[in-house]
Amino acid sequence: MNIQQILTSEINQIIKSDFISAKNKVLKEMKEYSDLHELWETTHGGKLGPYGNFPALKSISVKLGKFCNNMRKNCKTICSECYAVDMLSYRAELNKRLENNYRLLTTSIIPRKNLPVITDKRFRFNSFGELENMIHLENYLEICRKNPETSFTLWTKRVDLVRKIKDKPENLILIYSNPLLNDVSIQKPKMFDKMFTVYTKKGIKEHDLDVNCLMKCNNCHKCYTKNNITQINEVLK
Ligand code: SF4
Repeated sequence: MNIQQILTSEINQIIKSDFISAKNKVLKEMKEYSDLHELWETTHGGKLGPYGNFPALKSISVKLGKFCNNMRKNCKTICSECYAVDMLSYRAELNKRLENNYRLLTTSIIPRKNLPVITDKRFRFNSFGELENMIHLENYLEICRKNPETSFTLWTKRVDLVRKIKDKPENLILIYSNPLLNDVSIQKPKMFDKMFTVYTKKGIKEHDLDVNCLMKCNNCHKCYTKNNITQINEVLK
């Protein structure tokens, strides 16, 4: 190899390594941008995990906000038994993602072009967290409208917000999440398709109820399809 060839080879090497580091920098910046500006999806399989007869269900969720924190203070509510509190205490990365979803969904109406395209048959809102305000709910309604082929299910206790919906998308199933444990007195509010109540084993016996929640959503789908089941009863784990 003559001096000219050696120089050319070294120059090529420098260009190549500069190119690789520039490319890595751009990829890192792109990832940071999308992490900040895109809604993060998690997998929801119910309390027994994501494995089932059907593909795992996906979900868009948020961190536990003000509403959740206030509800948890009352030991009569199901929120005082919330499974998410424990789980999120050791999953820092998930916490970060849910915090970002919360910021994106609750502070301004997201333009439709920036909302996710969802190709799944069924999808869940809020495996973690609760509706924080009307902006949050409007953003979910718009996701439904943008993805009419997907059936969405939203669990919520926020009757006050749901009452303000003017035009409920056909592909949205609303589930009233009964805030009280072992409660048989609260009736399903009008706007909701179903009501979900959690009981202790003692409560199930006392009220002579059928437990129809399998705790494995991708084996069950009762809450993700339109059917005549309006009361879902789950036993507290
Ligand atoms: S009833 Fe079925 S679909 Fe509904 S929460 Fe329970 S396991 Fe999931």
